[in-house]
Amino acid sequence: MYTSEVYFNRIEATAKMLGVTGSVEKRNKLASHLNKKFYLLTRDVFDKRVKTSLEPYITPQEIENRLTRLADGVLVDVSKNTSKGVNGSIYVNMNDFGTYRAWGYDIKLPLERFEVQKCFGLKKESIETLCHETRHLFDFVTQPKRISSMHKFEVLEGRLSHWKVYKKNLYGETPADSTKEKIALTLRDTLNNHFDKMKTPLSERITILQEFRYSLQSESNAKKDGLFYLLKPRFEAAKNKIKKGEEVEIHPGSLDLSYKSANYGTKTQKMKALNKCEKITYDYNIKNIHDEIFFFGAKIKILEEMIYENIVKVRAELKASAELKLT
Ligand SMILES: [Zn+2]
Repeated sequence: MYTSEVYFNRIEATAKMLGVTGSVEKRNKLASHLNKKFYLLTRDVFDKRVKTSLEPYITPQEIENRLTRLADGVLVDVSKNTSKGVNGSIYVNMNDFGTYRAWGYDIKLPLERFEVQKCFGLKKESIETLCHETRHLFDFVTQPKRISSMHKFEVLEGRLSHWKVYKKNLYGETPADSTKEKIALTLRDTLNNHFDKMKTPLSERITILQEFRYSLQSESNAKKDGLFYLLKPRFEAAKNKIKKGEEVEIHPGSLDLSYKSANYGTKTQKMKALNKCEKITYDYNIKNIHDEIFFFGAKIKILEEMIYENIVKVRAELKASAELKLT
């Protein structure tokens, strides 16, 4: 007889990239590299449309084809996002509840109707959302462990309430006066209080914290990539000036369209973050912007410490019960 544990790790070949091995860091680099390739392919589509005097857009079919080509044989379905308050999203497709075999992905995007061409497509201005969601996809397909972690979490009874805590304390932006030190002081207590209140057993705490860590890491990756590729052409256009050390204005105002969503918080925070990447090297600063708004790095560090602490506690409990049996 199969137990649910057996099914937890069933990730079909159509939901992962075969032959990917190595450390988390190596897999992370591969995901980043694949998203870069995807961006370049997408830019080609936009450029071609502009050359034929069409508005730059890419169709869902064109997105799917490019993703399937890059992540060999992975099944992806791209469709219009209809939920309010979010720009885009990605879901792992699984078969019936209880058996949990992951077999593909659904990506929802802000597609628009192009009347003349009689088709739906994603406008060039939405590149940030596109590259955000595709980075999540590449994180999933290069790290099947991440899906297993999600499965384990999804069968927990208290998952909805754990998820609320994640959204409130980890996923979202932090108050304007946040510092790494303040987060280190409060986050651990907030999470531990929540677990105590829910009477969450130690082993479940590890599952939850691991899922939080994976999700937050991917969110950090996706936000970086989204902004990176949104701003890339602007920084490329100003490359020579930057090289000469001249001041370059990548005007935050012009970004407002893409920043209307709650993603980047208040305008002041946006200005603060974007001002920092105006003149200096583009890559370096993009990587740091989000750490100043969301403090992903500091939060992940606390989660890792907590996972370790809980593993130590579980081991101690196991040892104590083994000793009890011996006496
Ligand atoms: Zn995301």
